Amino acid sequence: MASFPTQHTAGPPKKPMVLRRLFYTDQHELTLPEGHKFPAGKYRMLRHLLESEGQFSFEPAPFADPSTIALAHSRDYIEQFLTGALPHAAMRRIGLPWSEAMVRRALASVGSTLSAARDAVDYGWGGSLSGGTHHAFRVAGSGFCVFNDIAVAIQSLRKDGLALRVSVIDLDVHQGDGTAEIFAEDPDVFTLSFHGESNFPFRKQISSLDVALPDKTEDAEYLRQLDQALPKALAFRPDIIFYQSGVDPLYADVLGRLSLSFEGLKERDRKVMNAARELRIPLVLTAGGGYSRPIELSVQAHANTYRTAAEVFPTE
Ligand SMILES: [Zn+2]
Repeated sequence: MASFPTQHTAGPPKKPMVLRRLFYTDQHELTLPEGHKFPAGKYRMLRHLLESEGQFSFEPAPFADPSTIALAHSRDYIEQFLTGALPHAAMRRIGLPWSEAMVRRALASVGSTLSAARDAVDYGWGGSLSGGTHHAFRVAGSGFCVFNDIAVAIQSLRKDGLALRVSVIDLDVHQGDGTAEIFAEDPDVFTLSFHGESNFPFRKQISSLDVALPDKTEDAEYLRQLDQALPKALAFRPDIIFYQSGVDPLYADVLGRLSLSFEGLKERDRKVMNAARELRIPLVLTAGGGYSRPIELSVQAHANTYRTAAEVFPTE
């Protein structure tokens, strides 16, 4: 296995009970060509906005250990990515130019979700300001996603005996195809994906439950479908929920194709988080996509999700 970069772990919280900490990865800044669709600056803007409001503390995410990532990905794929040896076509499918900063960011993004998952086990919920890279398959990355942080964290919790059954609630506007593929044969992981039926990925995988929505779907229909689907993810009796809270269903999203409002997204988040809290199921919050123009609208929508988490999961 590649040994770059040096592994280190999150360590204990700096204060005795920091229940509202969020892990971030934006210190590993990607340099992208002019006009690239990936909103690299979004993550730092989101952290700065939330920092200014004072509800959370922030910790740099630790790097995930490649041997932990190998719980959900092939060792060849991990090794090739870490060393910059992936074939050109494989990098093109990921859609980001390889760099050492990209390697650090990919490892930190998985580390962020791993740390948030441990917080969820300990405190009832945990949050990452990145993650939700749900297009990553076992042997290949895709759609800006290198490693499937949620899949790695699920396998890590199960390996350590911290969870047996898991539900993934993926409300990003794009199908969680990588997550569906990784857990296709796994009876203990329930994958729910809400997505635009005519959106990327054009070749869909089969989740435990797929809800494919037509273009321009608005709040009322979306929330009606969520009210029907959410109980199925909960009836699975998961020990923990991973929430991929992508805000790309927002009306202003240039990659989204749906027409949700800010209020609709807030109501969506409330429904998921309240259900987890009422049933006392730990929840891991990951960011997912958001590509609005201007990008500040996505930043606001993501911020609303974390603000809702602070409301629903009070510190005690
Ligand atoms: Zn998305």
